[in-house]
Amino acid sequence: MVTETAPCDAGSALDSRAAHGQHPSAPSQDDDMSSPIIPLPASRPLQHLVAAHRIFLALQSANWGAVALGLLSWREGGIVLILNLLAMIGLVLCPRCRLLGPNVAQLPAEAAATGAVALTFDDGPDPAVTPHVLDILDRYGARASFFCVGERALRHPELIHEILRRGHTIENHSHRHAAGFAGFGAAALLADILAAQQALSDIGGRAPRYFRAPMGFRSPLLAEALRRLDLTHVAWTRRGYDRLLRDPRRIVRRLTRNLAVGDILLLHDSDGRIGGAPVVLEALPLLLEQLAAQGLHAIALPDGLAEAAAEPIQQPHWHR
Ligand SMILES: [Zn+2]
Repeated sequence: MVTETAPCDAGSALDSRAAHGQHPSAPSQDDDMSSPIIPLPASRPLQHLVAAHRIFLALQSANWGAVALGLLSWREGGIVLILNLLAMIGLVLCPRCRLLGPNVAQLPAEAAATGAVALTFDDGPDPAVTPHVLDILDRYGARASFFCVGERALRHPELIHEILRRGHTIENHSHRHAAGFAGFGAAALLADILAAQQALSDIGGRAPRYFRAPMGFRSPLLAEALRRLDLTHVAWTRRGYDRLLRDPRRIVRRLTRNLAVGDILLLHDSDGRIGGAPVVLEALPLLLEQLAAQGLHAIALPDGLAEAAAEPIQQPHWHR
């Protein structure tokens, strides 16, 4: 992809609002939206995605207009709404799908050939969890990618430095980790992701290459925002539900059942404690021991996954 301007170049109004903890509001009409971001036109599939999203919104408006005019009953209007929402939720909840744009859910064959699985942590950095995760990874000689939340990175920049110092990588997990992220409009999506990109780049000295949507929820507008920021969406092959489950063995079983080389594993280095210590601190050593027993080793996400995002998915994995 040709990048005319690096995604994190300083100098735009949007950039200045994004920097140093100030979450930018949606860009105004006066903002030159093309200045900090890739100005190339979207590919045809991405244009189709944006168009499909607009059609979806238009159909919803028409649906409620028909109800207001008495052409449809409230019950019929509600059924149409629910069917539309179910279709949308089905897409949003399918983290391995490519229907919502380029997406990586498995390492490319050359990385997998070394016996590697990728280890990824979302939602940090967290001073109560991240340092312990780093110590465990060191103990087992494992590497990982940390999908960090921009606001949390600004509160704990020393943890970003420590993650990088120990040989791991920092990636983008949005600026605010907003619950409504998948419902943001195009400008708000772009502003939020750019704010995190700016914060993580400023602190770490290197722009993240990969993005993961909060809770894995992607909207049809996300792919275009990521394209403009030269980011690639990375999902996962397996996740441990370590923010929900209390039993570390159950978490490890979820991650290692039918585990294959090249899989991307998802855990969290945030304070997801339910009662005692964060369960990830108990699950992680068990996981790394099991990986070693299977002749596998954990790595951070390698370079070059943008190309992998466009390759066919090799196995019929679905969300686990
Ligand atoms: Zn998250």
